[in-house]
Amino acid sequence: MKVVVIGAGFAGLAAALRLRQAGAEVTVVDSLERAGGKAALGFPEFSSGPTVVTMPQVFRALHARLGWPAPDLAAAVPTTTYHAAGGRTFAPQALHTPGALERTLAQLTWQEAQDYRRLLRTSRRLYEGAASTFLFSKPPGLPALARYGLRHGWAAAPGLPLSRLVQSGPFLTPFWLRFATYLGANPYRAPAVLHNIAWVELGGGVWHLRGGLLALAGRLHAEAVKRGVTFEFGTQVEHLHTGRLPGGKSRVVGAQTSRGTLSADAWVSAADHHLTARWLGRSVNPRPLGVSGFALQLRLHGDQGQAHHIYWPGDYAHEWQDIEQGLLPSNPTLYLHLDGQQGFLLVNAPPHWAGSADAPEYARFLLRRLQARHPLSIADYTALSPRQYARTALGGALYGNAPHGLSGSLRPAWNLHGLTNLVQVGGTVYPGGGVPLSMLSGWNGVASLLHLPFDPLGGPAFTPFTEPV
Ligand SMILES: Cc1cc2nc3c(=O)[nH]c(=O)nc-3n(C[C@H](O)[C@H](O)[C@H](O)COP(=O)(O)OP(=O)(O)OC[C@H]3O[C@@H](n4cnc5c(N)ncnc54)[C@H](O)[C@@H]3O)c2cc1C
Repeated sequence: MKVVVIGAGFAGLAAALRLRQAGAEVTVVDSLERAGGKAALGFPEFSSGPTVVTMPQVFRALHARLGWPAPDLAAAVPTTTYHAAGGRTFAPQALHTPGALERTLAQLTWQEAQDYRRLLRTSRRLYEGAASTFLFSKPPGLPALARYGLRHGWAAAPGLPLSRLVQSGPFLTPFWLRFATYLGANPYRAPAVLHNIAWVELGGGVWHLRGGLLALAGRLHAEAVKRGVTFEFGTQVEHLHTGRLPGGKSRVVGAQTSRGTLSADAWVSAADHHLTARWLGRSVNPRPLGVSGFALQLRLHGDQGQAHHIYWPGDYAHEWQDIEQGLLPSNPTLYLHLDGQQGFLLVNAPPHWAGSADAPEYARFLLRRLQARHPLSIADYTALSPRQYARTALGGALYGNAPHGLSGSLRPAWNLHGLTNLVQVGGTVYPGGGVPLSMLSGWNGVASLLHLPFDPLGGPAFTPFTEPV
């Protein structure tokens, strides 16, 4: 069977490797010049997006499936250091090391510590209730949704906004809210069930992968080439041609690209599902898109070690009011990732932002903000605006549709385009965004093309040890 995979991000690479392992003849096309998708923009030695490695079990399982040694993962301790506008800091530790909870709670007032424990327990309950139905299984059909509803529906607090669930005082509330941005949500519009993401980081931990995530994309690409997958970079898909089968169903019969036409027996889109709809000539009328980002890649003088920092603005809610109005935040939360002589500064930004003329000015504004709170000796930098991220996603929305409301947080299934020989995988569809879930999507979304079983890639449990809360 000949299969074309569109997109060489983490989902497309996982899809190509699984298909090849099952004996398919695989070609991967991507409009960029190298593998890695959202990680592959900007300076060649930098990852332009993902820096926080979570769900280590998925990385370990994928390495095992490829016959590789276990990945070189080191725990980030603390997960992140949070800096409030007034100067107070908070450096939580994840629960895979004994004593982590005590060291975390010792940084909080008595009341904050009570709230922290309570909300950590809630996030664990939400994750454990949802993970086997919504992450580590095939996209749930009605029976699975009904089973989940009966067993966990009430606990998932349907109808309750996240912002009500996580009320825990001025210092900790933004801390809990922020996890919803990991799926592209405006935290003030997210449903309470997204609180499960906090458990992924605080229960399962944040990890440093030696060489970073872009290097992993490079290794997956090299492995695929070694196994006989063909890559065509710099090739932009423009249109997918369809034809009708005798029974009335339709299939993809070919693709028009910037370099000519392609044919195949089966097709995998590992690009944003809105883009696939466009190639099929369908009108794209997206539900509200999730957030985009404005980032700076910083080449630094001197080794800064490895760390994650969050610098809060004085008023977190105001940042989201700017974004709702389509504005770059005037007082943004700064996320800073340091890795040796590389720095990555990221702020939330609205999707569809078209003001590229303002990009250099906003970049300079962010640099001034950064230097005021975390002085760094910067040798060189480049900016990535939502317009650059729009090369890989509609409107530059990093995770596709905004997961607002309970139904909005359900991701579309792999057969959403309704064509017999096309599957849709990647971070904008089931089970969701982020590198581990995108790999799960690519690895399993293609299984139906070759009648392969679902492979939970490590399953819901993160690490053998989790300290009791
Ligand atoms: C700034 C930022 C920070 C992030 N932080 C984290 C993090 O810390 N941890 C984490 O786990 N995740 C993070 N993410 C999310 C993570 O990067 C994504 O969810 C994941 O990489 C998505 O992978 P994917 O393969 O589904 O899609 P993509 O990486 O978007 O790959 C899709 C590919 O399709 C290609 N394509 C699109 N259109 C066409 C076309 N017409 N023709 C041919 N090819 C096309 C694109 O070029 C791209 O290479 C972050 C993302 C960003 C941008």
